Amino acid sequence: MTSIGIVGTGVAGLHLALMLQQHHVSVTMYTDRTPDQVASGRLPNTVMHHYGTRERERELGVDHWPLADAGWWTRYHSVLGNPGIDYRGNFDDASTAVDYRLYLPRLEQDFCARGGEVQVGRIDLAGLEALSGRHDLIVVATGRGPLAEMFGRREDLSPHTAPQRICLAGLFTGVDRPAPEGVSINVSRGVGELIEFPIVSAQGKVTGLLFEAMPGGVLEVLARTKYDEDPGTFDKLVLGALEQHFPRVFARVRAGEFGLLGPTDLLQGGVTPTVRNDYVQLGSGRFALAIGDCHAAVDPVMGQGANAASYSAFVAGRAILEDVALDEMFCQRVAAQRAEVVQGATQVTNMYLEFPEHLRTLQAACVRNQTVSDAVAAAFASPDKLWRIVKTPERVDAFIRRIEQL
Ligand SMILES: Cc1cc2nc3c(=O)[nH]c(=O)nc-3n(C[C@H](O)[C@H](O)[C@H](O)COP(=O)(O)OP(=O)(O)OC[C@H]3O[C@@H](n4cnc5c(N)ncnc54)[C@H](O)[C@@H]3O)c2cc1C
Repeated sequence: MTSIGIVGTGVAGLHLALMLQQHHVSVTMYTDRTPDQVASGRLPNTVMHHYGTRERERELGVDHWPLADAGWWTRYHSVLGNPGIDYRGNFDDASTAVDYRLYLPRLEQDFCARGGEVQVGRIDLAGLEALSGRHDLIVVATGRGPLAEMFGRREDLSPHTAPQRICLAGLFTGVDRPAPEGVSINVSRGVGELIEFPIVSAQGKVTGLLFEAMPGGVLEVLARTKYDEDPGTFDKLVLGALEQHFPRVFARVRAGEFGLLGPTDLLQGGVTPTVRNDYVQLGSGRFALAIGDCHAAVDPVMGQGANAASYSAFVAGRAILEDVALDEMFCQRVAAQRAEVVQGATQVTNMYLEFPEHLRTLQAACVRNQTVSDAVAAAFASPDKLWRIVKTPERVDAFIRRIEQL
């Protein structure tokens, strides 16, 4: 019987493990952290799941959070300026956000309750070699940690060697939500972006704020200021940034009630966008396949990393179910099948961070034509499709023409 070892209990590892489990494939998960450690730890990210991931959650039977709490159907866009730019896109399939300190332990609980085995302990390269003697395939889903380096960086798809934004992500209280509820993407040119959205936390629904500061810019102080040293000063600093650079969100702050939810509800730092090789052959002759951030890590600004990780998990899972051997040909097939979506997510995110002129053309079309805006909003759930729209100025023009002639 085929046996799969999955290292890492993030979204990539868990979606793959749950999928294989549904099809009665023998899976063992390995992780360096227990669900309790994850649940009681620092905010790891602020993840929005889009349509494809939500479909997979339904398929896996892990769609535990009702849309009334966790979902929305609208994206608000606002660019600060004189005049500013404001438009909104509506989509039919909800996006959701649940604090991963609730989400991941719950999915691990599902996996174990359905008979799955999780072994706790840090795995290093030697440990991985040892595991390959026990399993037909090792799937490495360890995120951006050191094990990812074994796959080697793909220079052709990794144009940056440092983070392009320095981030502050946190859960906040005291912000009224827009009606209808949705994610708001706020841009202050030359300064950075703010993504604001509802998120289900251990303390109920709160506001997620993800500040994306341009390195060396005026917002970077947010990512460098320690909350614990003086919570009051920290909250005031964030509020000041909202007032000055993101007035659309500031207008919904309830005076006297704004603040970080708690000392562990923030994350500060940056992601170096990196695509790595899909697989390596281990000393045993068996193969290790990379999925999730371990394979492709992107800046969080477009909300793509976890969605691509889940997609990648399902591509790998289906290939495991279908193929006759888990050899190099299998790894190459997985690589080819996921390339368009995973590389779409990385390329489109890198482009949005630079925001070339033709994206402004697209933005202008979104302002004047609601159908264009809705189509772009919906395409955020399909990074391959979004990349096909925005890759070149000619493609943007063709996309706009096609919709405006309808
Ligand atoms: C602020 C922020 C906001 C984000 N927002 C979004 C968003 O809106 N939408 C979106 O799609 N993505 C978003 N992302 C990206 C998303 O968080 C990641 O792409 C996703 O969580 C990666 O999942 P993963 O399973 O690959 O890795 P991880 O979640 O990093 O999981 C890695 C797992 O491996 C384990 N592990 C690590 N090393 C070892 C080892 N040596 N031995 C054993 N176990 C090990 C860890 O404990 C963990 O269980 C955001 C990221 C950040 C930082």
